[in-house]
Amino acid sequence: MNETWKLTIWGVRGSFPVPDPDFLRYGGNTSCLSLDRGDTLVVLDAGSGLAALGDRMVREGRRRVDILLSHLHLDHVMGLFPFAPRYDRRCEIHLYGRPGFAGELTHLIGSSLWPVDLADDRAHILFHEVWDGKPFLLAEGAAPGLRVTAMEGNHPGGCCYYRLEGGGRSLVYALDCELSGDMAPRLTDFARGTGLLVWDASLAAGDRKPGWGHSTWEEGLSLGRAAGAERVLMTHYAREHTDVFLHSQELLAGQADSRCIFAKEGTVIEL
Ligand SMILES: [Zn+2]
Ligand SMILES: [Zn+2]
Repeated sequence: MNETWKLTIWGVRGSFPVPDPDFLRYGGNTSCLSLDRGDTLVVLDAGSGLAALGDRMVREGRRRVDILLSHLHLDHVMGLFPFAPRYDRRCEIHLYGRPGFAGELTHLIGSSLWPVDLADDRAHILFHEVWDGKPFLLAEGAAPGLRVTAMEGNHPGGCCYYRLEGGGRSLVYALDCELSGDMAPRLTDFARGTGLLVWDASLAAGDRKPGWGHSTWEEGLSLGRAAGAERVLMTHYAREHTDVFLHSQELLAGQADSRCIFAKEGTVIEL
């Protein structure tokens, strides 16, 4: 029997949070999604949206979380600074990232930049390196039967994308991504037949920024079609893209293809 996955959107921005009334409808926090699968909580990136998820974990008494990090650019990790479960001795936080990420992250969340070191936290924090193309299961005790595969992406400084599969469901997370070189055919194969492709829609249509490591919703939609994805979730919006602009893009995208969804903070998508 197929499972039900509940994907909650906690942050939709790239680069930096935008706490401004013109951005409230889609949201101002940076990238963070959570996946509830039975008793298991898996998180995709730890942008500023993670802070509210941490508060929810405290309210619900949840003490275990597995966080998959695409890369360490600040918009994808800044939510770890105020993440409440870090300060609770009873919590267990598993962090997954590219080889070498543990040292960089521990340095970043260190006493020169924040009052509490990642290493000094009260919670039990465990680091797990992921390798391009090598499938793995989440650390012991989490999400039995959930298989994760990482793929090296195309973004300045490196980045990895994730494919999660289990119980008849699948999701592909591909932030931040520029479709140059052989990235489009490789990613099409990686996302083949997925239920949901989560896409980097940072750039506006026709906005060419070679080397910036980002893409448009049009590119995501055509890649989703080529891969046979059931739905494509646009997110990681640029910080200058207001609600008015994003709404106009959402209407255009919906006319182009009904499988296209624009992420809004606080909404839940069932898979
Ligand atoms: Zn980013
Ligand atoms: Zn980045």
